[in-house]
Amino acid sequence: MQSARLWARLLGLEKVVVEGVEFDEDEECVVVAVRPRKATKRRCGECGRRCPGYDRGEGRRRWRALDLGSVRAFLEADSPRVRCNEHGVVVAQVPWARHGAGHTYAFDDTCSWLVTHCSKSAVRELLRVAWRTVGSIVTRVVADAEASTDRFANLRRIGIDEISYKRGHKYLTVVVDHDSGVLLWAHPGRDQKTLEKFFDRLGEKRCAAITLVSADAAEWIANVVGDRCKNAELCLDPFHIVAWATKALDEVRRQVWNAARRQGQHAVARDLKGARYALWKNPGDLTARQEAKLASIAQTNKVLYRAYLLKEQLRQVFALKGAEGIALLDAWLKWARRCRIPSFVKLARAITEHRVGIEAALAHGLSNARVESVNTKLRLLTRIAFGFRSPEALVALAMLDLGGLCPPLPGRA
Ligand SMILES: [Zn+2]
Repeated sequence: MQSARLWARLLGLEKVVVEGVEFDEDEECVVVAVRPRKATKRRCGECGRRCPGYDRGEGRRRWRALDLGSVRAFLEADSPRVRCNEHGVVVAQVPWARHGAGHTYAFDDTCSWLVTHCSKSAVRELLRVAWRTVGSIVTRVVADAEASTDRFANLRRIGIDEISYKRGHKYLTVVVDHDSGVLLWAHPGRDQKTLEKFFDRLGEKRCAAITLVSADAAEWIANVVGDRCKNAELCLDPFHIVAWATKALDEVRRQVWNAARRQGQHAVARDLKGARYALWKNPGDLTARQEAKLASIAQTNKVLYRAYLLKEQLRQVFALKGAEGIALLDAWLKWARRCRIPSFVKLARAITEHRVGIEAALAHGLSNARVESVNTKLRLLTRIAFGFRSPEALVALAMLDLGGLCPPLPGRA
């Protein structure tokens, strides 16, 4: 094999002529001089269309390639400019790197693969790159992958949620495919405008094909879904509804506790304070002590115990699901409306208001559980993404890891 071809193979280069190889003593790196094959010359860096040449640009340029053995390696080439009808004067496309990138395709892909498989410090150390460079790399790798695949084909059931990052100061809106469990889309912000961007990307036809959407009871989600997905039923996430009941129960506990304290019933107040977890937990998970506590509340505090039973029965509604769940929900609403506990009367009103969405969730057995599990992993990624310059890099990292966009290692596809 000719040595030029051997070098091209070593570096995984296609449509490229290797002109020479030397060792740069100052930089302590291998520099491989290359030029594009004729057929790939003089194309617009933005759109890839063939264009007339413009000038020689900034002369020689280097791109970081994968290390050769233990030595850093660079490709070096001219970077002429072309004049594109659409994009004006731009640097010509090169077959070994993305437009505007300082690293080769192989380097970018290796970096993206490593980010989803190793620790942050391992990636930095192994590749000898700054963390924000990793952020730029994953951003362009994902943008490329998104442009070349249609991940929104055949969507039927989706879940929408939000997740906080930057210590709870900023939010991402997140969309997950219920059928594959894959993260479809994430975008900074949590409002109507943000979510509309997702449905814009989907387009009218694919919006119309969506049959079920699960979400919490946020109005902005309901508004956009109602507006854009004409054939979809909105299912309210049972987990959120049960959380409302848990909150109502806690209000009752606090009121009862405050009343006991005001009336000087210190022993009762002390007991109630310790009862919090017993009231919160699912009955199956209670310890013997918590069971005893609950039994004592049943004896001494009828109102609080009634509130507890109301919470538990609502949970049962969602455990049953289907027609049985809907029947139990009816019974529950009747009971809650006349239970004379203000927090639960209020809860009954809120549930009645969202009745359609709750019944849809019961009928289709759809919860946001899949979305929550994606969110749990996404929360870990927000910590890893700390140090990236833009939220787009965080989103890109999420798409690599949870959206199925991670490229294979170079040469192994
Ligand atoms: Zn162009």
